[in-house]
Amino acid sequence: MIDLHTHSYFSDGTFSPSAIIEKAEKLSMTAIAITDHDTTSGLAEAQKAAENKKVSFIPGIELSVNHNPGELHILGLGIKLWDDSPIIKNININRKSRNLKIIDLMNKSGLKITYSDLRKLTKGTIGRPHFASWMVSNGYVTTIDDAFRSYLTRGKPFYLPRDTISLEEAIDFIHSSGGYAQIAHPLNIPVNFNNLIDKLDHWISLGIDGIEAVHSGSKRNMTKRLLQYGTKKGCIITGGSDFHGANKPKIKLGRTVKVGIISDDFLPRELLPIKR
Ligand code: AMP
Ligand code: FE
Ligand code: FE
Ligand code: ZN
Repeated sequence: MIDLHTHSYFSDGTFSPSAIIEKAEKLSMTAIAITDHDTTSGLAEAQKAAENKKVSFIPGIELSVNHNPGELHILGLGIKLWDDSPIIKNININRKSRNLKIIDLMNKSGLKITYSDLRKLTKGTIGRPHFASWMVSNGYVTTIDDAFRSYLTRGKPFYLPRDTISLEEAIDFIHSSGGYAQIAHPLNIPVNFNNLIDKLDHWISLGIDGIEAVHSGSKRNMTKRLLQYGTKKGCIITGGSDFHGANKPKIKLGRTVKVGIISDDFLPRELLPIKR
């Protein structure tokens, strides 16, 4: 069992990096990656926690890039340089200015949220999930999903876009950090399958290394089609749960919601040997 897509409390997960490593070891997993949104701040802790364990730790990151429709996320797996670079710092400066504007919108609607309320909810990247979680804790909605559906998705009162980097910038950052650039959860992109294949062909031509074909958001039959595409293309195929701890309680470490245990087949040889 492996898991190449997880979030710690350095972005919108609820467990520390060490706690994720310990869970992976308890489950006798072969390999575990931590891929927090727009930050590498949790990786050193995870690396240390994995030192005397059987489980192999793969340092990662998940970057959002410009795309319409929906959102396009890129996983950087096996990155070797972990210092947050200027590009990562800049993403988080943009995030901060957007977060302050969302706080303004909420305050004008009578919700007394402050930046320090949000700062308490994560040790790293602050994003919409933290606004959602604040709204739940303060009784404005019952679930994180409700917060997104009624307030925080595109077109809703507390939604604001943010400046994200381009796909090329993300690929460049990941490659120059020594990692592999994977299209995260391709089936979440709201286009039909043929359209998706055209897009994947194009992104691979721009330098994308492969696809995360196995993911909690994907159904069994669609996963199969994507695996067929990846095999034919000869690209790197990975699998991850997108574990977020208590923030996405249906998602368990090492398994996807609809397909089950993520097998070692989805740990590409490019990421081996991974025990440093
Ligand atoms: P941001 O990058 O700040 O715009 O926030 C986007 C993040 O919110 C995504 O990466 C997801 O992890 C999370 N997200 C989006 N929609 C939902 C939802 N319905 N429920 C929970 N989390 C969500
Ligand atoms: Fe997330
Ligand atoms: Fe994602
Ligand atoms: Zn993710």
